[in-house]
Amino acid sequence: MTPTVSATAISGDVGSGETSAVDVVDAALQRVATLDLNAFLSVRTEAAQTEAAEVDRRVAEGESLALAGVPIAVKDNIALKDGPTTCGSRLLEPYVSPYDATVVTRLKAAGAVVVGKTNLDEFAMGSSTENSAYGPTCNPHDRDRVAGGSSGGSAAAVAAGAVPVALGSSTGGSVRQPAAFCGVVGIKPTYGRVSRYGLVAFGSSFDQIGTLATSVEDAAQLLEVVAGSDPSDATTRPEPVGELAAGIDDWEPRGARIGWPKEYFAAGLDSKIRRACETALERLAAGGAEIVEVSLPHSDYGIAAYYIVAIAEASSNLARYDGVRYGFRAPADDLQSMYFRTRAAFGAEVKRRIMLGTYVLSAGYYEAFYSKGTAVRARIRSDFDAAWEQVDALLAPTTPTPAFRIGAKIEDPLEMYLNDIYTVSANLAGVPAISIPYGAIDGLPIGVQLMGPPLSERRLFEVARFLERDVGSGSSP
Ligand code: GLN
Repeated sequence: MTPTVSATAISGDVGSGETSAVDVVDAALQRVATLDLNAFLSVRTEAAQTEAAEVDRRVAEGESLALAGVPIAVKDNIALKDGPTTCGSRLLEPYVSPYDATVVTRLKAAGAVVVGKTNLDEFAMGSSTENSAYGPTCNPHDRDRVAGGSSGGSAAAVAAGAVPVALGSSTGGSVRQPAAFCGVVGIKPTYGRVSRYGLVAFGSSFDQIGTLATSVEDAAQLLEVVAGSDPSDATTRPEPVGELAAGIDDWEPRGARIGWPKEYFAAGLDSKIRRACETALERLAAGGAEIVEVSLPHSDYGIAAYYIVAIAEASSNLARYDGVRYGFRAPADDLQSMYFRTRAAFGAEVKRRIMLGTYVLSAGYYEAFYSKGTAVRARIRSDFDAAWEQVDALLAPTTPTPAFRIGAKIEDPLEMYLNDIYTVSANLAGVPAISIPYGAIDGLPIGVQLMGPPLSERRLFEVARFLERDVGSGSSP
């Protein structure tokens, strides 16, 4: 794997004229072209070169850009003007986006250059990128294993050194889980912290765009650029974003209260991942943090609640792919068969969710399933609210195991869903959560997760940076 220069370093060098955005972007395009992981669904060679030249021109004119010349990969469910946004689906294969997502507009304004769009589970539904209509993404640490999902392409692209940073999206864990499997940093911010305008909807009350990077600082810097309120997305939070990266190195654990939710350390957790979490807690304690055992009593119901409420929302959101308004339209003699044939082009997992989601919303079953799901969700939220009265942040595993083999779980949806056991709760509660690489099992990366109260992204970056420094020093884990 090629070591990548950090986004922060690139931006500094391009900003000072030490190097040009054109050279940096050309080098990234070459790495992308030789990458053999099925991480990219499309590459923007010419557009990226033109945009890089434009960045060099702006720098020469004295503009100061937060991400000057930084090559970035964007998950292919985020709209980029005049290019494809397939969502990993045949349904959107012919679709060309007429506009940029707000995050893309902000990236361009900050001088970042999108080099390509990355692979994902179809409509972001999955935990392995195997549900992509374009084939699975391979894990750069072991090509026979999954990169995680649904932002598997973004995580693999960063882990393999093709780009220093990438954007993903999370509805139930799709940034943290692939980040953990590929050994990179990934954050799902507070619900509403980043605009969803131009992000293809899956579960609208969960969806959130997140950042992936090789370092905590880069993940923070990128989030700082894309976060913030947006008149085009009424669910965005009005609070100012503030500085998320500058000075995070100065944080010390003394006086901080870090909780470990006991329900996350129960049966089913790989003993080495448990050990990595314990080591992280020990380091924080050695630095002066108070470590507190916390209970999130409704954690066991997280998967069930998530896979009811999220698919209900998905079945409604995906009704728009009818062959009339967007993308693919199957040839047919009459309207009814056109609908049928068009929607038959969804993959198996998406069909399963549309059917189950429609079922849980239907008269007679709504109370038994959807209402129960939302009631459980409210309890999970209250569990977190109670936790924040005791602690500043929670530390837990990101996944129960390291990356599994391609094909190992694809025939068993429930097995696949259970993989999200530690990530769905932060999405149900709308709180921010980050995964950072913390050691390895037989060469496969392990992720440790930090969760915090709404809008505590900066604190999460500080704690994550402390642990990252510790890993970097070679003293642990
Ligand atoms: N793995 C979860 C699912 O399949 C989460 C996906 C996501 O966060 N987009 O729904």
